[in-house]
Amino acid sequence: MTPTTSYQQPTARGYYGQFGGAFVPEMLYPNVEELRTQYLAIMADPAFQAELQALLRDYVGRPTPLFEAKRLSAKYNTRIFLKREDLCHTGAHKINNTVGQILLAQRLGKTRIIAETGAGQHGVATATVCALMGLPCVVYMGAIDMERQAPNVARMRLLGAEVRRAESGSQTLKDATNEAIRDWIANPVDTHYIIGSVVGPHPYPDLVARLQSVISEEMRKQLLEKTGSELPDFVVACVGGGSNAAGAFYHFLDEPEVRLIAVEAAGHGIHSGHSAATSVLGTPGIIHGSKTLLMQDEHGQITEPYSLSAGLDYPGIGPLHAYLGEVGRSEFIAITDDEALTAVAELSRLEGIIPALETAHALAALGQLGAGPDDVVVVNLSGRGDKDLETYLKNMDKLV
Ligand SMILES: *Cc1c(COP(=O)(O)O)cnc(C)c1O
Repeated sequence: MTPTTSYQQPTARGYYGQFGGAFVPEMLYPNVEELRTQYLAIMADPAFQAELQALLRDYVGRPTPLFEAKRLSAKYNTRIFLKREDLCHTGAHKINNTVGQILLAQRLGKTRIIAETGAGQHGVATATVCALMGLPCVVYMGAIDMERQAPNVARMRLLGAEVRRAESGSQTLKDATNEAIRDWIANPVDTHYIIGSVVGPHPYPDLVARLQSVISEEMRKQLLEKTGSELPDFVVACVGGGSNAAGAFYHFLDEPEVRLIAVEAAGHGIHSGHSAATSVLGTPGIIHGSKTLLMQDEHGQITEPYSLSAGLDYPGIGPLHAYLGEVGRSEFIAITDDEALTAVAELSRLEGIIPALETAHALAALGQLGAGPDDVVVVNLSGRGDKDLETYLKNMDKLV
């Protein structure tokens, strides 16, 4: 049985405690309202579920394995399992969400897809499912990000997507999001906006968490087979916006004996001025349509986040995570760039798996859990490291 608790479920207006909601310009209200009133019924439809399950199995490659990492376990003197989201099609968990949202878009009668992307990973996952379904796809991306993430721009174009350059402001994710919202306002009838994490106005945080929850649903079955219990002692995941963590935590949220560890990017150090540790540095405010913790100055201007890892370089966190932290259901750990790089080398050498730089933050937290020899620890291996090879090459001195 799937447990349901107040932790999983926001209120009808999308609140998790004080966080969440839908703060959108009036012109966007009909689009968000259409989605809000229909997403639960569509997702509950057996025909939708059958199509989603078939695609997750045959296209994404689910269930992903739960691998017992014996050499890593020996090093940390505890029992460590890796949930292999890195083996998903396109190399990370993001496709779980885009596959679900494109099926939803089709049922809403939408014929055109837009998305925003920072590092390009969500853009690639969106372009992929648009190619699969034969739908036109426009991805907004900051001009600076397009320079920094050129291989992902090439991938999106190869997949048939149009990548539009956001030239305003800091020319990064925030500006790409503004452009996408403008597009959606201009094209409310035919277009669905695929958001890539558990952020944005309600119902997106809940929609994305539900689509990613397949991760913890599989974990419970796999743990039962491998350990005799569905419940581990720790679940560890990195948090950018928080979608892979939401998926890994979801079916453990109402199991208080399972400790949920959310790992943020400390960059050069939490208080260095070059960090993305939102749970420590953030204060309540509104970003991308929801109330959550975000990094801002005393005038409410968003402070530029920093992490060597492009996927964790986000100034907010999803409202669910802000809430879980506030009520003490989850615990936050912050990991620096250098600690993450050390974890990249460690997993590569000990287990023959090269993780994404984002994922390496979760791995670097293993030494700080206080887990004992009888404990079971699951690390959500959110993505593979191929996309980060250039960064790894530039930092070889820290990896050898
Ligand atoms: C995008 C990304 C993340 C961060 O996004 P979340 O929504 O916090 O999961 C983490 N790991 C990988 C591999 C990613 O591509």
